[in-house]
Amino acid sequence: MAHRIAAIAGDGIGTEVMPEGLRVLEAAAKRFGIELEVEHFDFASCDYYLEHGQMLPDDWFDTLSSFDAIFFGAVGWPEKVPDHISLWGSLLQFRRAFDQYINLRPCRLMPGIKSPLADRQPGDIDFYVVRENTEGEYSSVGGKMFEGTEREVVIQDTVMTRVGIDRVLKYAFELASKRPRHSLTSATKSNGISITMPYWDERVKAMAKHYPDITVDQFHIDILTANFVLHPDWFDVVVASNLFGDILSDLGPACTGTIGVAPSANINPEGKYPSLFEPVHGSAPDIAGKGIANPIGQIWCGAMMLEHLGHEEASKAIVNAIEHVLAAGPEQAPLTPDLKGQGTTQTLGKAIAEALES
Ligand code: ATP
Ligand code: MG
Repeated sequence: MAHRIAAIAGDGIGTEVMPEGLRVLEAAAKRFGIELEVEHFDFASCDYYLEHGQMLPDDWFDTLSSFDAIFFGAVGWPEKVPDHISLWGSLLQFRRAFDQYINLRPCRLMPGIKSPLADRQPGDIDFYVVRENTEGEYSSVGGKMFEGTEREVVIQDTVMTRVGIDRVLKYAFELASKRPRHSLTSATKSNGISITMPYWDERVKAMAKHYPDITVDQFHIDILTANFVLHPDWFDVVVASNLFGDILSDLGPACTGTIGVAPSANINPEGKYPSLFEPVHGSAPDIAGKGIANPIGQIWCGAMMLEHLGHEEASKAIVNAIEHVLAAGPEQAPLTPDLKGQGTTQTLGKAIAEALES
């Protein structure tokens, strides 16, 4: 049966990298005999908002629910629409409504890309950050008292639930058990945050009992961020709460060079709702319209989407094709300017599609 994909390009370079993501996805589908049915939507973009006064049509939930996955470009154009409207009105709605409680980011140093960390080679940095995506520090529970007076008080609570923690831990342990190193790192701050974080640690210990062959490390977030920079080779699967995961999932890809290459996924593991695959980068207004955006983040997202849909071999083939083209270097391959090359979004997309076909 065909997989139905909702393609939402969004804003800025989202509209430029999306066609290249689809080009490579379709090449992979053809090679591996996978049937994909792609439908395009113009909502969740600032132009849609300027025309309709909202980011999404009223029936967006029903419309998107019927798809197997959402392939997303980038949203936001602060000069036209403030970020809190564009983001809250689109991606964050999807995350909640579709219970995408896992945010997954691979952090892998690719061949031909220079890490900002000295002397790091491909193979030294190859781990996943698994971020809890629906509760924790971002629960919007709290309030203000004595507003406008000198006695002003603001309170914001962290809400963690046993179900919420256990399901993200289970996902992370499962991921770790599929990786060769069988290692999992949990990030907390139990020496400072005295109720929620020790509870998270407790749940990690309870979950670890079901996975005796996985080595578990528990780090405080402060020293963990230091070790991302000093010893990125220590890590395999890193699991963290919403806030800590947010920080780690920016720091991780930053250690692997250009922002244009990194992918991410917002996943509903049960498949009850569609999961969403989007590059780590934003709409990049500064380079939009120039045709020079790096499409690899979007293309790699396609690989993550295929893996999620059960096509591991096709997914690996896309990642191999990306690595093959990157390894050729800016002299031989049409790499984009952020990779010191002379290529364009399109020529790089085509080169990766060709590498996949050959
Ligand atoms: P957001 O808030 O949506 O995450 P942002 O403004 O924080 O967006 P980006 O839009 O990702 O960040 O842009 C950050 C910088 O990285 C910009 O200078 C942009 O040109 C560059 N950049 C982002 N994506 C790419 C890409 N695909 N190829 C090349 N450069 C990129
Ligand atoms: Mg930003």
